[in-house]
Amino acid sequence: MKISVLKEMMPGERRVGLTPETVAKLTKAAHTITVETHAGESAGYSDDAYRTAGATIAADVTAALQDTQCVVKVQRPVRLENGTHEMDLLPPGCHVVGVLRPASDPETVGMYAARGVYAHSMDLMPRITRAQAMDVNSSQATVAGYKAVMLAASSLPRFFPLLMTAAGTIRPATVFVIGAGVAGLQAIATARRLGAVVYAFDTRPAAKEHVESLRGKFVSLDLGSHEAEDAGGYAKALGEDLLSREQSIIAKHLKDADVVIATAQVPGRPAPRLITDEAVFAMKWGSVIVDIAAENGGNCELTVPGKTVVRHDVTIAGPLNLPSEMPQHSSDMYSRNIAAFLQHLAPEGEPKVDLADVIMKDVCIAKPGEVLHEATRERLKVQTQSAAENQA
Ligand code: NAD
Repeated sequence: MKISVLKEMMPGERRVGLTPETVAKLTKAAHTITVETHAGESAGYSDDAYRTAGATIAADVTAALQDTQCVVKVQRPVRLENGTHEMDLLPPGCHVVGVLRPASDPETVGMYAARGVYAHSMDLMPRITRAQAMDVNSSQATVAGYKAVMLAASSLPRFFPLLMTAAGTIRPATVFVIGAGVAGLQAIATARRLGAVVYAFDTRPAAKEHVESLRGKFVSLDLGSHEAEDAGGYAKALGEDLLSREQSIIAKHLKDADVVIATAQVPGRPAPRLITDEAVFAMKWGSVIVDIAAENGGNCELTVPGKTVVRHDVTIAGPLNLPSEMPQHSSDMYSRNIAAFLQHLAPEGEPKVDLADVIMKDVCIAKPGEVLHEATRERLKVQTQSAAENQA
């Protein structure tokens, strides 16, 4: 299969879809790889490193896409500065692989179908054992959880570890992690390694064991008859009553926290608002909240997505793309996930989409002439209907 790796054009994106390490493995498996010049530079990978790994370097995006069968990206195609949309450069019939996030951009999904390409959205990878090696949500959440703690540590006007020095004893920091999924667990492990005392909270009772295995202290909420998890193991949204109980439990813990890492998410919904203005007001001077859920609105009422603000003497960071801030290792992990997916897409060398396959059924959001992602199809239908009504 002829695979192209493009330079990321989404502002602020520093990762690259394939690294030289995976390029070498894919070329050994008889794939042909073309990399757009400078594609890996912001992740620390030079054109020379790709050449050594067996890739050809293309002078620009048009040359990189010549006759390609598969385009690997991190972010979805965007409009370039010269006005051309990356989508318009894709050869019809090719496959696009990336974090395409159909829910946040239904129009682009329609464009894949209209352009006559297959679109594979890695963020929709099912959480099944067979797909673990392709799970970009987990690999990138691991980076986000780690980096969130690093950000907090560098903004905090206090130490993380217990220190016993000639200048006296410094008590360890208290870190409160909300949401103990992949990012939350990595945040717990990282904060523990730095010597903090860590408390963690999740609505899924199964999270208790994971938190305790990392030597965190689990804070629980009695959910009564509420089912915490859906069939896929994801958290379910809480009703108003449970949400306000949860907010008051969290507020109680926040009073003693130096750092809060907020990661709570419910797939397909805005992030639950768990930290109120009042709870932030009661926090200690100089405390730090890193709200990883900012991309979906944030867990804290005062989070400004994409910004760091100070409210009531508390620093509140709402980063939107933490993996991009650690571009080398996040690209390494992403690239290995992609290589595993490419092996699934083209086990005998040529790409083949079997929509009866449980992975392809979830990941393939568009094929030539047809949007396959059901939620997007519904949204596009509603948009078309209301446009027609407005015209009438
Ligand atoms: P996520 O990013 O969807 O959410 C982060 C965490 O927030 C989750 O632990 C969730 O329970 C929690 N949360 C949601 N609402 C909350 C609330 N109101 N209060 C507190 N916490 C709340 O989670 P994720 O990292 O994608 O993990 C979700 C599930 O998938 C977990 O059970 C995880 O173990 C599982 N998982 C399975 C696989 C696999 O089988 N391959 C891979 C990764 C994760």
